[in-house]
Amino acid sequence: MPIGNGETLIFTCAGASHVGQAANQAGVQLMHQQDGSLFCLAALTAEIPEKTARTRAAGVLVAIDGCEDHCCRRALERAGFVPSVHVVATDIGILKKPDKPHMGEDVHRIVQKVQAGLHALVR
Ligand code: SF4
Repeated sequence: MPIGNGETLIFTCAGASHVGQAANQAGVQLMHQQDGSLFCLAALTAEIPEKTARTRAAGVLVAIDGCEDHCCRRALERAGFVPSVHVVATDIGILKKPDKPHMGEDVHRIVQKVQAGLHALVR
């Protein structure tokens, strides 16, 4: 059930490692597929008022993390928000620093996991 303005906002850790970059590319792809709007985690951390207000008004918050450090989820929580959907790339078997990265395939897996989480919310 959508709450607030019903908007789905997607946050990613955008970390430097393969999984962090895959997390961010997944966020971009989800936005292009109209699953939500990719939003600025750094703006929340910087306490930009209008970004915080838009997040507060959103219906669904998605957090995509690269690894078990959960930087995106933690940053959201420090700003006072709890994500409805939280996906961690390493939890679905993606290596943090693979010798031979398969970015496209890994991004696709993250996108599918997020979409499954979003579908579960509306069941
Ligand atoms: S969650 Fe992992 S990959 Fe993402 S920013 Fe934190 S340490 Fe880096």
